[in-house]
This record gives sequence, C-alpha cells and structure tokens, in this order.
Amino acid sequence: MTIADEPLAAFRQETRAWLAENCPAEMRVPETEETACWGGRRFVFASAAQRLWLERMAARGWTAPDWPREYGGGGLGPAEARVLREEMRRIGARRPLDSLGLWMLGPALLEFGDEAQKRQHLPPIARGEIRWAQGYSEPGAGSDLAGLSMGCADRGDHWLVDGSKIWTSYGDQSDWIFCLVRTDREAPKHKGISFLLIDLDSPGVSTRPIKLISGEAPFTQTFFDQVKVPKRNLVGRLNAGWDIAKYLLRFERELIGTVASDAARDEGVAARARAALGADGLAAAPELRLEILRYELDAWVMDIALERSRDLARAGALGPVAASVLKLAGTRLNQRRTDLLVSIAGVDGLRFDDGATGETARRWLHSKADTISGGSSEIQLNIIARRALELPGDGY
Ligand SMILES: Cc1cc2nc3c(=O)[nH]c(=O)nc-3n(C[C@H](O)[C@H](O)[C@H](O)COP(=O)(O)OP(=O)(O)OC[C@H]3O[C@@H](n4cnc5c(N)ncnc54)[C@H](O)[C@@H]3O)c2cc1C
Repeated sequence: MTIADEPLAAFRQETRAWLAENCPAEMRVPETEETACWGGRRFVFASAAQRLWLERMAARGWTAPDWPREYGGGGLGPAEARVLREEMRRIGARRPLDSLGLWMLGPALLEFGDEAQKRQHLPPIARGEIRWAQGYSEPGAGSDLAGLSMGCADRGDHWLVDGSKIWTSYGDQSDWIFCLVRTDREAPKHKGISFLLIDLDSPGVSTRPIKLISGEAPFTQTFFDQVKVPKRNLVGRLNAGWDIAKYLLRFERELIGTVASDAARDEGVAARARAALGADGLAAAPELRLEILRYELDAWVMDIALERSRDLARAGALGPVAASVLKLAGTRLNQRRTDLLVSIAGVDGLRFDDGATGETARRWLHSKADTISGGSSEIQLNIIARRALELPGDGY
C-alpha cells in the first residue's frame, strides 16, 4: 500500500463497517423484477427493509454516489465510487434504487440543465421520490428517432404539447417524463428537436397500457392532448435537444450493456450447472463445460471493459461510440448466458410461472428485448460502422 492508497483504504474500512451495520439482511439477496425498488409517488414498497435501505442510502447520498452533494449525491470521486460498488458487491447488497432518473436524466441534467432545473429535479431523484419515464419513441419514430413528430408550440408564457409517445416503460407508474419534442418543422430533422420535462399529472396527459403476450403490460402509449408545460421545463437551448438526446442515450446504452455482468453476480452459470446436472453428471460433459468456460471468460473480459469505460467516462475520455460497443457486446453476452441457463434447466427452463424456474424463462425472454431497447443491435452496428470504422453509409 502506498501513501496515496491510505485514504482509500480508510474509506473502504468505513464503508464496509457502515454497510455491515446498515444494509438489512433481506437486501443482501438477489433482486428480481418483482423486488426491485423503483421509488416515486405511486410506488408500494415490497417490505419495510426495502424502504429502510433506500432511506439510509439516500440520506448518505449513496443512491447517486458520484453526483455532487448539493444535488443529493454522495460527492464521491471515481476511486471511492468504485470502492463502494466493490463493497456492496462483496456482501451481495442490492441496488437501493432502480431509476431512469438516476441512470439517464440525472447525468443529462448535470451536463445540460440550468441551476434551477438541477435543484428542482436532482434531489428528488436521488431520494427516490419522483419516478421518471422516457418519452423518446413514437409510433412513426423508433430507430429513426430524429424523425419524431410530437409537436411543441411556443404559446408565449408556456409550451403547448400535442402528440403521443410509445413503448413508454412503466408510463402509468411514473410521475414525470423526459421527452423529445419537435419545435421546428422547417429545420432539418435533427435541428428542430428540443428536450422537455413534463409532469405526468398535467391536464391532457393520459396513458394506455400495451399488453404483451405474457399478459403483462410493462409499456404504455402516452398521449399528450394540448398539454400546457411551463417554459422553464425546456432543458438546454431551443432546437438543440438532439445533442442532449444522444448524450443521454450513451448512458442508457452503457447501462443496458451491463445486463450480463449484473445478472452474473446473482448466479454463476457453472454453479447452476453443477447444482442442476450434478458435478459428475451431465455438468461434466465436455461440450457444456467448453460453452460455460467460453461464456465465463467473455463475461470476465466484459466486466473489465465496463470498469475501464466507467473510469474513462469520469475522466471525460469515453468516446461516443463506446456505449454502442458495450451495449452490443453486453446484450449478446446476456443472450448467451440466458440460453445456457435454459439449456441447463432443460424442459423446466421454459416453464413460465412465478417460481424460480419461471424466472429463468422470463430472463431468457427479456434478453431478447435488450437487443431492441435503447436502440436495436442493427442500429448500434450502423453507428460503429459509420463512426468508429468510418465505413460509407448514411445517417447515424
Ligand atoms: C424493453 C423495451 C423497453 C423500451 N422502453 C422505452 C421507453 O421507456 N421509452 C421509449 O421512448 N422507448 C422505449 N422502447 C422503444 C425502443 O427504443 C424501440 O423499440 C427501438 O428504438 C426500436 O424502434 P422500433 O421498435 O420502432 O423498431 P423499428 O425502428 O421499426 O425497427 C424494426 C427493425 O428494423 C431494424 N432497422 C430499422 N432501421 C434500420 C436501419 N437503418 N438499419 C438496419 N436495421 C434497421 C431494427 O433493427 C429492427 O430490427 C423500449 C423498447 C423495449 C424493447
């Protein structure tokens, strides 16, 4: 240990002791879709421990460890934030809060928001009081996001918004939505978009659930019928929203790229194979062992790439294409992981019920959606081809 490491060692010790005392035992078991804490006005906590864990972490600013303290964050530097992640991982501590506000809007507001917007929105996000939805896709604009048409007209003392958004994840359970809106129909399509924050309780907003084959409705179509929005809710400059949209997408894509690494912490594929098939039984089959080994090695490399990209991002040195590479690689890796888990479980792996086996099938199905949400794999390949490899082509 060098002298420079000493403060970090002390921070690790303090963090370890604090977590040991404050992370409830129930919050040290893997999170499932049902037990995730999303916060917000409409959220019903699954247990008293879940609420306590959120409150304790938020009070310390550790729901947003690297945000400045004045906006509800922990004010940690990159090295300290990494120590916190490692120490939480060591005891299997769950994330206290899952939140589009934390993962996407927060970083965008820190970069592009004005002081009043930061003070109004960031602390409630960090405390888990306001849940945000993402209003990017429209019925006619998915991959071609810049072709969006939801209108936003200047009415002097307010904006007037008309149109609809689609595939809004949990639109009916969210409190606010960050939207891309068309503020200039004459300008080239990327140059007439603005970034607007809308309270979903505003008169004229309604949601319609979109029911999936599973019977669940995790998405809504979100309608805006002559919705009045205060002028102060426009982030950044008028018609300069595309830059904010792209900046935010980098965070979304990198986050989706972590899906395999996050899940791998919950359950090792090799451990599953040994438990389900017997260490000396089918789990010893060379083909399966080789596939698991290849997966585990790639997952290990992915973890290193993610840590490195976090460091680069904090140093402001992460290129815009990196998030596309991480998303593409991470989501493909997760599909290999869930394929393996289903193969290991055999026919039971396809059972779609509420039990532990159902969780395998649900994760397997969800892994298909990860290569679509946040921009499909084909779009990431286009971005990499154009911007990293400089191959010919249009757009992106
Ligand atoms: C789980 C999940 C959650 C989501 N949550 C949200 C949310 O909260 N808010 C939100 O705004 N949106 C959300 N979305 C929507 C998501 O952003 C879009 O589904 C995605 O951008 C693709 O757009 P699309 O569905 O319109 O498909 P399309 O754009 O119609 O694409 C259809 C197919 O064509 C391919 N394709 C399209 N253009 C090209 C091209 N130029 N080159 C090569 N191939 C191409 C695509 O890869 C895809 O395979 C979510 C989606 C999923 C799956």
